[in-house]
Amino acid sequence: MTDRVSQSVAVVTGGARGIGEATCHRLAEEGATVVVVDRDGDEAQTVADEITDATGQTALGLEADVGSESAVESMADAVDSAFGRVDILVNNAAIRVDPKPVTEADEDSWDRILAVNQKGVAFCSKHLLPLMDDGGAVVNIASVGAGLARPDWAQYDSTKGAIVAITKDMACDHASDGIRVNAVSPGWVVTDYHLPDDAEEAEAMLEEETTPNPDGPGILKRAAEPREIADAILFLASDEASFITGENLLVDGGATAVGTGLEWEENFGDAET
Ligand code: NAD
Repeated sequence: MTDRVSQSVAVVTGGARGIGEATCHRLAEEGATVVVVDRDGDEAQTVADEITDATGQTALGLEADVGSESAVESMADAVDSAFGRVDILVNNAAIRVDPKPVTEADEDSWDRILAVNQKGVAFCSKHLLPLMDDGGAVVNIASVGAGLARPDWAQYDSTKGAIVAITKDMACDHASDGIRVNAVSPGWVVTDYHLPDDAEEAEAMLEEETTPNPDGPGILKRAAEPREIADAILFLASDEASFITGENLLVDGGATAVGTGLEWEENFGDAET
């Protein structure tokens, strides 16, 4: 991996768990100084401490709700005070709300999901891009849901569609500053959110879902582990992706290559297209 990562200051939102946590560790393994940002400040600091224990490198945990511009501004000030610059920003923090059609979704759930998933990307970019004095890379985490037709996911999927759109427009706006902006759209990734609390049961489920099986999703017939998404994020953040911007990289084990999320028969009947 090139100097962009090994000498970088990297900020990862939603870094306390799941894909964000794996991304923090992966960036640190390549030498980055990582800032773990999460609404759960204690967990963010725990991940930062684990990184320092494992690599000997400086890592900082910061509490911030990305859906609050004032909180994001304070977080950016803390990053500026600690390191004076940012090279990599991974806009990963997001929430899900109870799946339901728009006819049943209430205003409160719209306000919550738009604040975190959509405005959070904008606020973090607004306050951290000015610290990218020497250029940089932004990776926004979208979802395969941005491009799928699936029942009851309109709220979440529409925020992820917005992330694909803001990625392309930000790529235009900041190219002249030497900043590349890309998105990663994961398919199904087994994270703590999906796993039961019991450690043994969780390990068994992780093993089962990430091992190929005839009923598994996509071409690879399995779910992903968080580290497999972190690897794609790392690539887009690195100089190896120097000619890639405005892109949305699907990391879904081929799930969208074989259909739109519904069974083939449901979509196409017996048509031999
Ligand atoms: P997760 O729920 O396991 O972790 C999300 C992290 O974000 C948590 O640490 C949480 O505390 C933090 N967070 C939530 N709201 C926040 C806020 N307002 N401010 C700051 N931090 C906040 O999520 P995950 O499954 O690891 O997903 C990470 C990203 O990948 C999300 O953008 C998600 O939409 C996307 N994604 C996940 C999957 C999947 O299958 N896991 C699939 C497609 C896309």
